[in-house]
Amino acid sequence: MHELSIAEQIVDIAREYSERENVTSVREIELEIGTLSGIEIDALTFALDVVTKQTVLEGATVTIIDVPAMARCEACGAEFLLEDYFAPCTECGEFRNTPIRGQELRVKSLIVNE
Ligand SMILES: [Zn+2]
Repeated sequence: MHELSIAEQIVDIAREYSERENVTSVREIELEIGTLSGIEIDALTFALDVVTKQTVLEGATVTIIDVPAMARCEACGAEFLLEDYFAPCTECGEFRNTPIRGQELRVKSLIVNE
């Protein structure tokens, strides 16, 4: 399951951060997830529930921020919101787009307990 390994990576990031900053527990974690990342939010939330047990992330609120996908058209240079990979350019109707945003998953912030 793809989401499980992603959840484990998120825990690793939080663990490294807390060791470096001497944090014992995290209150909230904010994740930015691109709409083209292919990540199932429900599956990720479930996986996080499981893998955060007995880590600094246990009980932390997970806030997910959707990052809308953008693409650049190779034909006319327009940049537009991309609903899916196979959508045409909204300006010229060509299908030669290059995604420029929306495939990422990023830990945006960790809010720690004082
Ligand atoms: Zn175009």
